Amino acid sequence: MKQKIRKGILTYSALLFPLTFFFMSPYVIIMSAAYGIVNGSALFFGFLLLFSMIGSRLFCGWLCPGGAIQEQAAHSNSKAWNGKWKNSSKYIIWFFWLAFVVFLWISNGPLAVNFFNMYSLDSHIFVIYMIVVTLIYVFALATGKRGMCHSLCWMAPFMIIGEKCADFLHIPRFRLKAETENCISCGRCSKKCPMSLDVVEMVKTSQMDSNECISCLECADICPKLVIKFGISAKAK
Ligand code: SF4
Ligand code: SF4
Repeated sequence: MKQKIRKGILTYSALLFPLTFFFMSPYVIIMSAAYGIVNGSALFFGFLLLFSMIGSRLFCGWLCPGGAIQEQAAHSNSKAWNGKWKNSSKYIIWFFWLAFVVFLWISNGPLAVNFFNMYSLDSHIFVIYMIVVTLIYVFALATGKRGMCHSLCWMAPFMIIGEKCADFLHIPRFRLKAETENCISCGRCSKKCPMSLDVVEMVKTSQMDSNECISCLECADICPKLVIKFGISAKAK
């Protein structure tokens, strides 16, 4: 039932994407910063960082329209896409992109806040929307399960930083837990994971925290022995 709700929410989020993609855009934030404006996507990325200090990456697993598009692509390419270098590229992209945004803010201050800066529902926006959707879909199709989340997403580092801050400050946040002794190593959790994580290994080693985990709970729901639990708790010392 949980997964039906999750997929229903993701699908609805994808349907609303023409109205919301401005607030997740890595481009609009740059164009706004060039005029000394802190726009909606800047505020939204800040919100994601704060939210993840309690909600971890629930946004990615349950609400992100880009995630929804990629989960559709996974019906055509369900190859695993996960690895050190595959995951590292998004941090490199994110670092240079954010550094450029901050440079523009500093150069064009004093800053003004305008949540709806550049927001428009003109017909040409639909063309941009189609290009964005096509890029996300094709990238996931070419790479594998949620390939964009692993390698390109500019929003994921904000949430991963939020998680790290919460753990550093011992703030309880959403996380998985495993009852390792009940695991029969059937492998269903790893197979089902939309982020291609080796969940069996995570369970065996009781290391359920992963930067790449999007808190979707697919693994918890598929486990025949109900090994994987979830809840809000602080990182064990
Ligand atoms: S699905 Fe459950 S029992 Fe099977 S390997 Fe994963 S944690 Fe172990
Ligand atoms: S480990 Fe579980 S909760 Fe995390 S992404 Fe994989 S299936 Fe989802």
